Amino acid sequence: MNQIPHIYIHVPFCSGKCLYCGFYSKIYNKNSVDRYLDALESEIKAAASTYNIQPKTIYMGGGTPSLLSTPQLKKIFQTLQRYINLDETTEWTLEGNPGTFTDEKISVIKEYGITRISLGAQSMDDKILKNMARRHTAEQTIQTVKQLQSSGIKNIGLDLISALPGVDSATWKRTLDEVIALNPQHISVYALSIDPNSILHEMQTNDINKLEPGCPHPEQRALASAKKTEQQPQSTINHQQSNSTDPLSTAETKLTAAGYHHYEVSNYAKPNHQSQHNTAIWQGADYIGFGPAAFSRVGLYRWENPIPEASPQCPAPNSQRKDRCSSEDPNPKTKLPAEVTGVPRRPSVCTHTLQPRGTPVTEAQDAAERFMFAFRLYDGINPHTFATKHGAAAKTLLPYWLKQLEALKQEGLVTCKQNVWSLTKNGRNYADTVAEYMLP
Ligand code: SF4
Repeated sequence: MNQIPHIYIHVPFCSGKCLYCGFYSKIYNKNSVDRYLDALESEIKAAASTYNIQPKTIYMGGGTPSLLSTPQLKKIFQTLQRYINLDETTEWTLEGNPGTFTDEKISVIKEYGITRISLGAQSMDDKILKNMARRHTAEQTIQTVKQLQSSGIKNIGLDLISALPGVDSATWKRTLDEVIALNPQHISVYALSIDPNSILHEMQTNDINKLEPGCPHPEQRALASAKKTEQQPQSTINHQQSNSTDPLSTAETKLTAAGYHHYEVSNYAKPNHQSQHNTAIWQGADYIGFGPAAFSRVGLYRWENPIPEASPQCPAPNSQRKDRCSSEDPNPKTKLPAEVTGVPRRPSVCTHTLQPRGTPVTEAQDAAERFMFAFRLYDGINPHTFATKHGAAAKTLLPYWLKQLEALKQEGLVTCKQNVWSLTKNGRNYADTVAEYMLP
């Protein structure tokens, strides 16, 4: 079996639920986390005896991994050290939120070789943060970055979300300026999308006034309702040019002027600080995911770990809303990836083992998917080189890809230089749609 060079660990615990969140996560609870850690160890141990895992990168995302206590984090680090050969690991990222790092925690993070911290800043405006039910302030973001920097963490990324409800142009520019002033090595700028599994979506699409009392963040219902009419339709390919005053264009202008390379649709980095992990995934590398709702791509197989409530031992709840708002459950946690239905209830975390890998995709599907992902990278892709590298199925698809690319070029969405195709500035606004054109 081929070597699996990348590991993702989903740590699905947070201190609350952000309104826009569509990820699977649960409210932090020590007992739940401890059960999760035992299950994670079982899963990693089983995988280590099944697959050839030699990670060049490890990414611990969530959720909020930095919310775990120092002993809990240590347990994950030690589990990986015990069962996986980490000799080739050059990048190890841990996601966190501002205000969740203690000096002791940072010390342990450094001791175990974590090389990169990715912080969810999202906005530098306290009112916006509060409106979205974030549990930190802009000042905490500043202090956490300084704390990490002064302790010697040399690779820090900050995540931002553009077009959050209530953010005007001046607020957005101020957020960008303040984040740039912190001098992180990496900045991600995600456009707000209303995830169908998010509270925000429920507030916008349902009669939000009928949400049960006690649902999280009722004060946001009016805001969400007011913004409902402002939502933009899904991007489609057309002849519109990007608006230089839109938030993403503003971000690109400011960040590139500050020395950040726009290397992927949503990602900017100082020289030599691209996310190795994410870049490898976009380039089509295999990866294995651990933890509830984690995805894996190994050869022709893709699978998603079950969430506890979806396993036979842990029956799914009868009602999502009941779970979200139940007075029996103090944890109104409801984060779900788009691919998952059902909401965590009880038991909060079940032991799970390696899942069957299911039905493999065809070689053509595999090649098309990896080609599509690679197109997100702004350095572009040489379809001929890609086809040579990815076997007969990719070679068969090559004429189709070239035909599609020529059509997109006529639309001004892609450009070609010496057989390397890349998105134009306008094409970056439609990257997902452009990528879908590569699927036969
Ligand atoms: S968006 Fe908020 S609730 Fe969702 S995983 Fe991140 S911190 Fe947790």
